[in-house]
Amino acid sequence: MFELLKTDSHTRARLGKLSTAHGVVDTPVFMPVGTQGSVKTLDPRELRELGAQIILGNSYHLSIRPGLDILRAAGGLHRFMNWEKPILTDSGGYQVFSLAKIRKIKPHGVEFNSHVDGAPLFLGPKEAMEIQRVLGSDIAMVFDECPPHDAPAREQRHAVERTIRWARECREQPRAEGQQVFGIVQGGSNAALREECAKALVAMDFDGYAIGGVSVGEPEPEMFKAIEMTEPFLPANKARYAMGLGTPAQLLELIARGVDMFDCVLPTRVARNGTAITRRGAFGLKGGAYKADFRSIEEGCDCFACKNFTRAYLRHLLNVNEILALRMLSVHNVHLFLKLMADVRAAIAAGTFAGFYREFIANYVPSQKVLSARQAEIER
Ligand SMILES: [Zn+2]
Repeated sequence: MFELLKTDSHTRARLGKLSTAHGVVDTPVFMPVGTQGSVKTLDPRELRELGAQIILGNSYHLSIRPGLDILRAAGGLHRFMNWEKPILTDSGGYQVFSLAKIRKIKPHGVEFNSHVDGAPLFLGPKEAMEIQRVLGSDIAMVFDECPPHDAPAREQRHAVERTIRWARECREQPRAEGQQVFGIVQGGSNAALREECAKALVAMDFDGYAIGGVSVGEPEPEMFKAIEMTEPFLPANKARYAMGLGTPAQLLELIARGVDMFDCVLPTRVARNGTAITRRGAFGLKGGAYKADFRSIEEGCDCFACKNFTRAYLRHLLNVNEILALRMLSVHNVHLFLKLMADVRAAIAAGTFAGFYREFIANYVPSQKVLSARQAEIER
């Protein structure tokens, strides 16, 4: 199902093709996130035009609203949202452990209260796989336990043990037709736990492997280390997916470390705060500096927003709360991520990725948060 076409000779970057029930995905790939069955502010036609090959849906949110009965009656998520290309669904593990009020972790899942109305709910491997079967996603994720990055060692160990046991349970559940299932490696920043978890999952022969427990509040250097601790134990002939990441520069760093798939709410989330992401870093368009700036969001960008509107106009729309500004920033930001991945694939194919990667990182101004984390690492 995953075909490794080429491995870069200077970095660990890989070029691949992932075949799914709803089409082929070229990797490295960025997957826009449609948590509630919609990539916020964008419709399927726009996503197609932006070149989205695969999008994400979320089991936890969709099972609460609209609920499985409606999704079943609609004939699954593809038909419900009118998206004919591949969909990957998150199992809900991350949301249960981050959003919900947990009452009890039991051998076969978690008792918790809905973040919407407080209703008591239960989600475990069996339930998560049933939801994803009804959604009919092309790629389903196993139900895992994702502890916060600063969880004590004992908690990380228990999370890995449960993640392995639950992965085995997920593996045995019935699937939608043609549905692939990916395992998720946990283990925090503990190398031995990462290795143990990866080896146990690889022995179960999943269709692909995700590196979970990253982007859970840890500083950037720790995140890179967690990826480096895990990647060597993943088989070359299966896709690798880093969950919930990241900035354009982080994506390049992770591709150079052998990761193929990414998803992140960043491009659409920051768009709704008035932030544009460019190949040289992000900037807030609301600032007075752009009041009479009649250039496009990013010079040289060929997205619909940059071809048609100026910074001055979009800044004005942001300041008077017009929805068009949020839509156009989402168009630009998602375009940036998708076009960057297309450029990366072309560079790997041409054997020029190492230079492309070095130049991109040199030109990209990271956020203040990333810079302070780097400084803290140097001082340690
Ligand atoms: Zn643009």
